[in-house]
Amino acid sequence: MAKENLECSFCGRKKPETNLLIAGLDAHICDRCIEQAHGIVAEESRQSRSDDLSAELVLKKPREIKEFLDTYVIGQERTKKVLSVAVYNHYKRLLQPISKQDDIEIQKSNIVMVGQTGTGKTLMAKTIARMLNVPLAIVDATVLTEAGYVGEDVESILTRLLQAADYNLEKAERGIVFIDEIDKIARKSDNPSITRDVSGEGVQQGLLKLLEGTLVNVPPKGGRKHPDQKFIEVNTENILFIAGGAFDGIERIISKRLNMQAIGYSASKREDLLDTENVLQYIIPKDLKEFGLIPEIIGRLPVLTHMNPLDRSTLRSILTEPKNAIIKQYEKLFAMDGISFEITNQALDFIVDKAIEYKLGARGLRSLCEAVFTDAMFDLPSSDESEFKVTKSYAEEKLSFETIKKLKAVS
Ligand code: ADP
Repeated sequence: MAKENLECSFCGRKKPETNLLIAGLDAHICDRCIEQAHGIVAEESRQSRSDDLSAELVLKKPREIKEFLDTYVIGQERTKKVLSVAVYNHYKRLLQPISKQDDIEIQKSNIVMVGQTGTGKTLMAKTIARMLNVPLAIVDATVLTEAGYVGEDVESILTRLLQAADYNLEKAERGIVFIDEIDKIARKSDNPSITRDVSGEGVQQGLLKLLEGTLVNVPPKGGRKHPDQKFIEVNTENILFIAGGAFDGIERIISKRLNMQAIGYSASKREDLLDTENVLQYIIPKDLKEFGLIPEIIGRLPVLTHMNPLDRSTLRSILTEPKNAIIKQYEKLFAMDGISFEITNQALDFIVDKAIEYKLGARGLRSLCEAVFTDAMFDLPSSDESEFKVTKSYAEEKLSFETIKKLKAVS
């Protein structure tokens, strides 16, 4: 056969229409068909890998879970311990053989974390999901409204989870949902209101349904923009819900409760025993009720824990110690340009000082580092420099008063 008459045995394209035609024993294949076939093989093996993953959930012991958390999250020892146990129990419950389930029912260990913004609540949830290799959806409770009102229905939470699981229903059904800013849907007063509370109690009622463990019809594409989509039925029974919030002002509620108990004979003794700098550690479910969460929701979030404010030494450690610490990331970025990066302890202390002075918290550390390193990241890749050493005076020069003012404005 003349060369130009050869054709791809799969798509029939003639040789001149292809970039490449490879001959087999008695067939030919063109470059396009090779690419397509490669895509199919890759997709198939991805699918089978994810099926394998679903089959084996690696259940670590609480100590191992905490060790894993330690590599990413600095401090917050108590919360890490509480979470490790809660996660362990949750997945133990999930893995118990069905035949045994009717004896003693293990209650779900949904979690609520109370603590200022930027203390690592989201990081904690992310790290757990990473360790377990389960999908994680992070949702903001402030966008949720009761069905029929402007905003998102609570079911949209599960849409996110399905998306995070690549629409693998089985995986989504044992994933983790992190609901941020749960405090923002608190009832505005402790009295059940007679007027409609669109973004508060109504949403809590909606959430309750998900937390309880039930079958929910979920619009896979989310929202109300796709009215024709077919719903997917998601069982929330084995989904671990972790809620987080700053609960601004809850310290007052806690202090009030503690002081009331302290009246009388043992008052002064009790005062001595209490750490008045950090009263959040004494939080109990009743305080959440007082704040405006409905008792049913509190009951469905049985594991209550708190995050400590980040002190100077914690902030300093966050810069360099976690597995993907900010400074390690910059080191890697510079190394990719063949530049060895070094930063002195004094410079690191200075960055931490500024984060504290301007109340920028852990999130601010990243923006401060950006402000210090941006010029170098711009100039050095096009230069012959093979070293970049950051001293305190270099950091001082880059972090002028004006720069920090700007950072403060956006944080
Ligand atoms: P929250 O959810 O409490 O508002 P995040 O988890 O989003 O806070 O934390 C913001 C950033 O601060 C994270 O990306 C993380 O890098 C850093 N961070 C906060 N707390 C810690 C911590 N305890 N250990 C390590 N990094 C932390």
